[in-house]
Amino acid sequence: MKLETKLIHAGEARPRFAGAVNVPIFQSSTFEYAGQGKYEDLKYIRLNNTPNHVAVSKVLAAIEGGEAALITASGMAAISTALLTVLKAGDHLLVQECLYGGTHTFVTGEMPGYGISFDFINAGDPADWRRKLKPNTRAIYVETMSNPLLQVPDHRKVVDFAREHGLVSLIDNTLASAVNFRPLALGYDLSLHSCTKYLNGHSDIVAGAIIGATALVERVNHKLIHLGGCLDPHACFLLERGIKTLALRMHQHNENGQRIAEFLRSHSKVERVMYPGLPDHPDHALAHELLEGFGGLLSFELQGGAAPAQRFMERLELPICAPSLGGVESLITRPVTTSHSGVAPDDRRRLGISDGLIRFAAGIEAAEDLIEDLAQALAAT
Ligand SMILES: *Cc1c(COP(=O)(O)O)cnc(C)c1O
Repeated sequence: MKLETKLIHAGEARPRFAGAVNVPIFQSSTFEYAGQGKYEDLKYIRLNNTPNHVAVSKVLAAIEGGEAALITASGMAAISTALLTVLKAGDHLLVQECLYGGTHTFVTGEMPGYGISFDFINAGDPADWRRKLKPNTRAIYVETMSNPLLQVPDHRKVVDFAREHGLVSLIDNTLASAVNFRPLALGYDLSLHSCTKYLNGHSDIVAGAIIGATALVERVNHKLIHLGGCLDPHACFLLERGIKTLALRMHQHNENGQRIAEFLRSHSKVERVMYPGLPDHPDHALAHELLEGFGGLLSFELQGGAAPAQRFMERLELPICAPSLGGVESLITRPVTTSHSGVAPDDRRRLGISDGLIRFAAGIEAAEDLIEDLAQALAAT
């Protein structure tokens, strides 16, 4: 089956529940004992196995080509639980330098307390990974594309490196979703998602996912049961509903991202635009080889820096000034005031995140309307 069909039909319960076309919401914390032998097989929301959890997990496993999937209470629950499953006291992690903010503060602020050490690596430079590899290195962690500069590591090399050195490879695939990239097919061990973004797509829930081979996903589930980061059945239902339209939405996000990037690239008041779909993006060729689409996220700088950037954003009518991405509506932020406000100014400069940098998360509105709005705000700036 093609991905578009799997999104609608993968893992359907047969027979259907009372004939219902959709999986009804099983708002029940516990279920009648049916002679199960193992604790994990009892039915209880925190064990992540109610009919709502099972339904949405099956769809996620199917669209990413994984044996199994696990739904979590947030993207951060997926990331922290997966890392704490594959790493224990005394272990060492290689982790991409330019990370999602929550992951960055989890790694730097929490892992040392568990006795887990780490080194930041330049994901684009395999020689740097080799230099930082230690006898106790157990895992390597990267993101499909970095935020907000959309750098794309050579994922084939990450997977080869992990195999060569017996490391568990983890990737945060949130910014691509299964439509634009399927990391397990390339050889990653675990694909992680904030389902809050493209997978749910409507900015109305927070959720996460972990996808991979059954044995490893079961280990993560064991940890998740203890840490307690389970998703509520009502949110499972909303996530399952959102996922059905993922392919349609991603195609529009991809198209809007490309058209808006091209428009900004050609505008005299725009200094530079970062979007992997533009031929002058440093990772364009790699992104073109690895990904099936470049997504809706882009960043850019106006001439004159932070002050005109702020005025420009205030003149926009359609995009909402808010953090997050992947919803049907376009969102705009300045990373220094939101996602990267916790990163030290020196580190921001080194990573290429200037004070005037604007991040645009294209929704699925008509590209013409978004471009017209951007044009009027630029003209008035
Ligand atoms: C939002 C996001 C997360 C965290 O997800 P939550 O659902 O907010 O916990 C992790 N990684 C990336 C790339 C994200 O965009």
